[in-house]
Amino acid sequence: MKHFIVTKLVPVILMLMLAALAIAAAGCNGDVTSTDKTVVAVTLLPQAGFVEAVGGDKVEVVVMVPPGASPHTYEVTPEQMVQLSKAKMYAKVGSGVEFELAWLDNLIGVNQDMLVVDCSKGINLIASEDPDEPGLDPHIWLSVKNAKIMVQNICDGLVQVDAANKDYYEANCSSYLAQLTELDNDIETALEGMTNRSFIVFHPAFGYFAKDYNLTQIGIEQEGKEPNADYLVRLINEARAKDIKVVFISPQYSTVSAESVANEIGGEVVIIDPLAKDYITNMRAIEAAMRQAMQ
Ligand SMILES: [Zn+2]
Repeated sequence: MKHFIVTKLVPVILMLMLAALAIAAAGCNGDVTSTDKTVVAVTLLPQAGFVEAVGGDKVEVVVMVPPGASPHTYEVTPEQMVQLSKAKMYAKVGSGVEFELAWLDNLIGVNQDMLVVDCSKGINLIASEDPDEPGLDPHIWLSVKNAKIMVQNICDGLVQVDAANKDYYEANCSSYLAQLTELDNDIETALEGMTNRSFIVFHPAFGYFAKDYNLTQIGIEQEGKEPNADYLVRLINEARAKDIKVVFISPQYSTVSAESVANEIGGEVVIIDPLAKDYITNMRAIEAAMRQAMQ
């Protein structure tokens, strides 16, 4: 009798184990079919942080440009297209980042029912200082003031696709906006007293940051590539004249010319990340690095 029960139970246990494995495997692949959460796709990691801050445990976020990749060169994978077909909402940056990502139109074509939220709605774009990105500067999220507008746009989108959780989203949104206001004030105060207000960065992604806090960004990159010798000489002279001792680089870009500029001015190369997911922690780290560099 005892044996009989065990024998009958074995296939049931096996099936349960297989089911558990299947769910675990789906989780590992980032598959989002097995969730009842609202699936939201975003272009960049900082936006994923915004969606999670507002959406909490009601959302599942899919990020198109993975950690370490540059939005200027990244190409989406077939797996990401499948994930995107399940999204209820796509939060695009909307400031020109996606024009470089030629695949965004295809992504939206995969899922016609998806609400496309333009995070840049209501943000004043400034001129790009990067010859690789002529026209308007796409790096809007590196202004905390802009980030607040992006978060509000994301919240409005979530309320539209999942009205049942409106109160939850709006409560999370206002508490996150309060944290961003505090962050903005703290950075402003921290950088206020600096007399040297210029910084050098390889990929000039910090134009909005510079504008907010009355700093001057000097980019190294030219047309998305290492600069020519003439430009480097001018840059090094300017750096010496302004007593600049730090050259910032981003983890997504090469460092060859940044290192040679740093050597020439007797300074050092310091990494700041324009694309980290934990926005508030990262912006505080950027502020600290800038304050140190401009002392
Ligand atoms: Zn860029």
